[in-house]
Amino acid sequence: MRLLLVEDDPDLSRSLKIDLAHAGYVVDAVMDGEQGEFLGMTENYDIVILDLGLPKLSGLEVLKLWRQANNNVPVIVLTARDSWHEKVDGFKAGADDYLGKPFHIQELLVRIQALLKRFHGHNKPELDTYGVVLNEEQQTVSIDGQQQLELTAIEFRLLRYLMLHPGKILSKNQISEHIYEYESDPDSNVIEVYINRLRRKLGKDLITTRRGQGYVFGKIK
Ligand code: CA
Repeated sequence: MRLLLVEDDPDLSRSLKIDLAHAGYVVDAVMDGEQGEFLGMTENYDIVILDLGLPKLSGLEVLKLWRQANNNVPVIVLTARDSWHEKVDGFKAGADDYLGKPFHIQELLVRIQALLKRFHGHNKPELDTYGVVLNEEQQTVSIDGQQQLELTAIEFRLLRYLMLHPGKILSKNQISEHIYEYESDPDSNVIEVYINRLRRKLGKDLITTRRGQGYVFGKIK
């Protein structure tokens, strides 16, 4: 999952980036509204964490510009604690959720998970697709109620991305963009290696290869 973090407090931004990376998100962090607005319009993010008090362009203005341009990326706004009017303004501008500062990282992580599931039409507390149940806290998976299998960090990122897009063809490029940092620029054959590792863990029928197109998790819709 590729995540845009727009937060001008350098300490908070740095610590969030580390915690979010541990939770398996690829994070692009910027510190002002202008850069945030630009990246949100030009890159394909799964979710955005947007502070409201930002230099150059406020979080509310950023959000309004995106929504006016029909950019429906899921957005969690960071508001001042106990500021009910910021929450109201945030929702009016098109926010999907909010979190008052200061907050505990665990709360942000569960809100991100919940929002991503809702956005992709999942309404159960755990990510559960075709009998495959992903435990996002433990980064483990179980199949048809069997025992939990451990996943490596990259297997977890890959499986979560696949499970949020069941039945859709996902190209190698699309997958690598959502599970790696840009700088790392992996060979797309690496994706094939990880897909095969997941097949060994989950059974080979769950992920289908479409020659020249990519991969499909579960049945094609
Ligand atoms: Ca701020």
